[in-house]
Amino acid sequence: MTAVIETNDLGKQYGRKWALRDCTLSIPEGKVIGLVGPNGAGKTTLLSLAVGLLTPTRGSITVLAGRPGDGPAQLEKVGFVAQDTPAYAGLSVGKHLLMGAYLNANWNQELARDRIDQLGLDLRQKAGSLSGGQRAQLALTMAIAKQPELLLLDEPLASLDPLARREFLQGLMEIVASHGISVMLSSHLIADLERVCDYLVLLVASHIQLAGEITELLATHHRLSGPRRDPRSLPSSHEVIEESHTDKQSTFLVRTDRRLNPDRRPDLYEAVVLGRSGRTREAIAVLERTVAAEPENLEAWALLAGAAKTEDPALAARARARQRELAPPVPDG
Ligand code: ATP
Repeated sequence: MTAVIETNDLGKQYGRKWALRDCTLSIPEGKVIGLVGPNGAGKTTLLSLAVGLLTPTRGSITVLAGRPGDGPAQLEKVGFVAQDTPAYAGLSVGKHLLMGAYLNANWNQELARDRIDQLGLDLRQKAGSLSGGQRAQLALTMAIAKQPELLLLDEPLASLDPLARREFLQGLMEIVASHGISVMLSSHLIADLERVCDYLVLLVASHIQLAGEITELLATHHRLSGPRRDPRSLPSSHEVIEESHTDKQSTFLVRTDRRLNPDRRPDLYEAVVLGRSGRTREAIAVLERTVAAEPENLEAWALLAGAAKTEDPALAARARARQRELAPPVPDG
């Protein structure tokens, strides 16, 4: 499978400070990728390198098999909305759409107009007088109407109200499902993105802490709690990533070599597609059938816990409890 973003030992340095370092990634096409990390972790730096606004200090980056920012064909393939969602203050919303149509070969004017209508924006209003959230929506509309193969969004939810966030993510999922594009969105909070992403890149202090398919990460990472114990008493297959102790209790975040079957079965695939299209109830119904027939199917329980999270919290809690039962046990020590 082609990589949508491929980096090798990528690094960016400002003066003596490394904003991004030792970054090696190979992200498959067609994913919704969550780029998560605290302030200053390097998220904007990585996105800017991917669109060619910055050049690497060391290493390399390829985006959709091309060099970032390298000519019109490459620019056509990638849509980008920067964190401050820039717009031309003196131009009206309608003029922005005209400009989009003029500058982009694959521009979809109908999609742009429909979205502006849905948002209730006035085509005659100058961008300079839009609220921060409205300006963000205009910038997102421009990026989507360009119909790129890869959409890069730097903190797209930051200035949106809760309802607008939900609607935006839902709209984005519809576009992903119907056009099969790849999307990378950054956020400080994993909770913002967990419902829509299937691939996670976690950046901490300029370094990649974790990167991979979320289902695989969930299957190989476990939180274990129990009576206080020495981490050395855990099985050797458990790599301790984080530990915390009270007088009586220990909690470990461990990585194990237990992996999920990467060839996802059709029923689970269907559930994921339904969930992504906002048809959560139907996704839950598919998954409930699977876990009823196969109570040992950890992947189905994990997907059910995610799908039912908002729709049916009691079911989600039951699914999470079952997931914990099926996760590798900690032996007595
Ligand atoms: P935030 O969530 O706050 O937007 P971020 O994860 O996007 O943060 P970056 O903006 O990529 O982080 O910054 C990574 C590091 O690089 C930070 O320590 C920042 O101070 C530094 N940095 C970014 N841009 C510059 C610049 N132009 N000159 C000097 N240092 C910079």
